[in-house]
Amino acid sequence: MYHEPMRSVVFGLLSALCLGAGTTADVARSIREIGFDRTECYRVRDLLISQEDIRIYLTDGYLIFSQPVAGRRVAAVFTTDVDGGDGEVLLLPSDRAERRSLAAYTDSPNLDEHIKTAVFLFTGDLYRNLTSQMGNNPANRKAPDMGRVLEEQWTPVLRNLGASYQTRMTLDLVGGPAWKQGLLAALMSGSRLGNFDLVYDPDNNEQISLGTVAVRDNRAFFNTWASFPSKSARLNPQPAAREMDLRDYRIEATVNPDLSMDVVTRVKVKAIADGIASAPFDIAGEMEVGQVTVDGVPAEVLQAESLRVNLTRFGNHLFLVTLKEPLRAGREYEFEFHHSGNVIHDAGEHVFFISARANWYPAFGVRFTTFDLLFRYPREYDLVSAGDVVEDRAEGEWKITRRRTSQPIRVAAFNLGNFEHARLERGGYVVDVCANRRLETSLQPRQIATPLPPLTGIARRRTDQLAMPPPQNEAVPSPTEHLNALAAEVANALDFMAGKFGPPALPHLTVTPIPGTFGQGFPGLIYLSTLSYFRQLPPRLNNGSLTNNLFFQDVLQAHETAHQWWGNRVAAAGYRDNWLMEALANYSALLYLEKRRGARAMDLMLETYRDNLLLKSENGQVVDSAGPIVLGTRLESSIEPRAWRAITYGKGSWIMQMLRARIGDERFTAMLGEIARRYDRKEISTDEFRSVAAGFLPPKSDDPKLETFFGQWVYGTGIPSVKMTYSVKGAAPNVKVTGTVTQSDVDEDFTALVPIEIQVARGKAVTQWVRTSDTPATFSVALKTLPLKVTLDPHHALLRK
Ligand SMILES: [Zn+2]
Repeated sequence: MYHEPMRSVVFGLLSALCLGAGTTADVARSIREIGFDRTECYRVRDLLISQEDIRIYLTDGYLIFSQPVAGRRVAAVFTTDVDGGDGEVLLLPSDRAERRSLAAYTDSPNLDEHIKTAVFLFTGDLYRNLTSQMGNNPANRKAPDMGRVLEEQWTPVLRNLGASYQTRMTLDLVGGPAWKQGLLAALMSGSRLGNFDLVYDPDNNEQISLGTVAVRDNRAFFNTWASFPSKSARLNPQPAAREMDLRDYRIEATVNPDLSMDVVTRVKVKAIADGIASAPFDIAGEMEVGQVTVDGVPAEVLQAESLRVNLTRFGNHLFLVTLKEPLRAGREYEFEFHHSGNVIHDAGEHVFFISARANWYPAFGVRFTTFDLLFRYPREYDLVSAGDVVEDRAEGEWKITRRRTSQPIRVAAFNLGNFEHARLERGGYVVDVCANRRLETSLQPRQIATPLPPLTGIARRRTDQLAMPPPQNEAVPSPTEHLNALAAEVANALDFMAGKFGPPALPHLTVTPIPGTFGQGFPGLIYLSTLSYFRQLPPRLNNGSLTNNLFFQDVLQAHETAHQWWGNRVAAAGYRDNWLMEALANYSALLYLEKRRGARAMDLMLETYRDNLLLKSENGQVVDSAGPIVLGTRLESSIEPRAWRAITYGKGSWIMQMLRARIGDERFTAMLGEIARRYDRKEISTDEFRSVAAGFLPPKSDDPKLETFFGQWVYGTGIPSVKMTYSVKGAAPNVKVTGTVTQSDVDEDFTALVPIEIQVARGKAVTQWVRTSDTPATFSVALKTLPLKVTLDPHHALLRK
């Protein structure tokens, strides 16, 4: 698993706003404590909110506006609770994939819903727009009596929502002219669909998004029904521009004996846009930001909880730094953040779990930059992080470790423990594998009985789910007994990959344990499940599953090692491209597995991935049908929480496997090397990847631009059943093999290439590729001798049932 890069923080804004003496905190408080204004309540008919692709008809009902915040009305409620009351919302997603996504959640490719109520939060000129429409129709009039009712009824709802949107709306109101204008969030209650959110966010790459918060098994999901660029962005696409660039991080962190951290983060912030009055940053929710200075001048900090906005951010929380003077474009400023919090958790026996691995320091998006990291921590521990060791010494009860990265990286991580090390040098790269000296509490035999579920893909569960009952008389395996062998494995994998893809992200790679069933590969630092430190999974943790052993003992370390390239040298262009990093990392791991353990081990992993994609969901559909791989983390929805993992890792690996079959082994490896070179410290999109891959196809290939292949497997869904019949006619030297290939269980427009392998004498084989469709495909091959065997797809060249 690789942590999803923090999406660039995006906001709308009001520029020429006269705020008087209000500070950021005042504006935020006003939003949090906002109420409706009973004197601004109207009986309304036939009003229209038209924002890009969004049409909301306030046909017949009551409308009440909020009290002003910083001189602006920023919220309204529309209710149809009146005789003949009605309202309607229309949204037509711009492309087929988004219409299909919407249909998966709502049974309709378009949103056309009658609404009972709608709460609007906005920072644009909706108030002026609606009141001027009212002036044109005498049917619209003030309704003070209803104003009193609605004020009382809706103010608590608004305060609740205001708390969620407080930081975001505050930035819009005080952020300065650098930020784009006019957020509109409509939180509606539909007559058929229940509650849902429709948001227009001008500073997002996909300005329009539609979805809802859904809870399943006590877990909250944000189900994104549809998300796409607004009409004007589609007509006039602009390259994504960021407002600020961060570089040259210098972080000084103290880990206190109680494991809390006090951190000073210094970073250079270059303003790209002019007039940044308030600057937004992301940080883990566990970190509290105290004092911030900009070029030595204290700035105001606003940090608050924000459920809805943060649901989509992997625990990143937004905070604002409001400056004495707005930042000027082109100038670079020194920001100094003082932050503290608990991101290190005790798992027992001097084993620790770091909860904020990528976002323990403030960031604005993710960029390649250098890090200088200084840690001060209790002498009994070891602390490792990315980069080359500059300093490592003891001072009284403390140890001090300083590391500096020799190359720009995207994320700097660290780990704490009481480690035993195994260091190896291979091909000019240093591998340092750290093992805990003891097992964490939850892995102690008396704590555990339930075996792991058969799993593939990279789990994101935590140790608490591994902690289980009764005692067993089993010898406690030591996490260090396998250390040297593990270090050799990591060094071998690194060497294998460096031989194919070029230098890794950093010349020094530290591998460290983390409690749980997952791994995470950051530049120069890998978190590896403590289960991977066993020579073999203890029987009490495993139900004899060979795939579990392959996963923890072979694939996981190689997958995280592969992220040194995929994700940390080459980055994904956006959330729709992030699957590439996982698929490339996992397939690189499978290539290493194939070399290390043979083709059968790789086949076994691929077969398990296929089986997981074919598991049935509650709706009777298979997991694969949850959506195309390019939906990224949107696949992790309440409909099928397993889909994101099964599709990203499993189908992603199959996509690479099928491409390799089409391209050929040697050219496929060359293609990976070419991507590593061409996109070194750059971002790659899915379409750019398609284009590079197509360039490596053998001459005269069917589907030479791979557009059909990508349409089917990357932008579409479906796993076919394929069957073959054939007959042999004639005698040597005039033999003819003719046959038919039929597909089923997929849509009629599904098509795939299937290899038919015809074995002729002396171990030689002829491969004929056949393109399937909804009608049976025929093939005919002339041979000089009788075939020994005719086989459909003998080497997993096609993902099929
Ligand atoms: Zn990964």
